[in-house]
Amino acid sequence: MFPKSFKKLIDNFTTLPSIGPKMAERLVLFLFKQDAQKLSDFAKSLEDFKKNLRYCKKCFNISEGEFCSICKDSSRNQKTICVVEDALDVFAIEKTNKYNGLYHVLGGTLDPVKSAEIKNLRFAELEKRIAAEKIEEIILATNPTTEGDATALYIARFLKPYAIKTTRFARGLSTGADIEHADEITLSSAIVNRREL
Ligand SMILES: [Zn+2]
Repeated sequence: MFPKSFKKLIDNFTTLPSIGPKMAERLVLFLFKQDAQKLSDFAKSLEDFKKNLRYCKKCFNISEGEFCSICKDSSRNQKTICVVEDALDVFAIEKTNKYNGLYHVLGGTLDPVKSAEIKNLRFAELEKRIAAEKIEEIILATNPTTEGDATALYIARFLKPYAIKTTRFARGLSTGADIEHADEITLSSAIVNRREL
């Protein structure tokens, strides 16, 4: 039905999350109407994207160099780590300007139903940081979902023997909601009013 090159691009778009065939067709038609320079800039930014970005060696945030800008910033509180599920949570929390510590991006959650395992998360790396850095507080900022709560509980249990204050974001973030999608005011108050576990 579609010309070959048109179809190929549609197929590429449908591999992206939340993009169905109809949306893919609309995006590809939009791109078709753009001039060549705009498209080559777009293609170049995709290439650079993969070339320039990596995971921060310390916190696994998205980074342009070996360490991310947050880990490199010595003015931040080096004694607090906020543990989040993915890098978008880091950006959401940063936007609130209510947190000045470091992060650790787990890269997912435990799922008690699907038995997703802790070894698939960057938990061993967190353990290493706890051993190596002088951490005084760990904020368990996984999402308030069944999986996020299970993950927070697992880490809280692990932290029990350590003299580290363990906190979780205050309720107010509705259950089942994502940190990444919370509005700034709700998220700010959840950070400020975090409670000790
Ligand atoms: Zn980092």
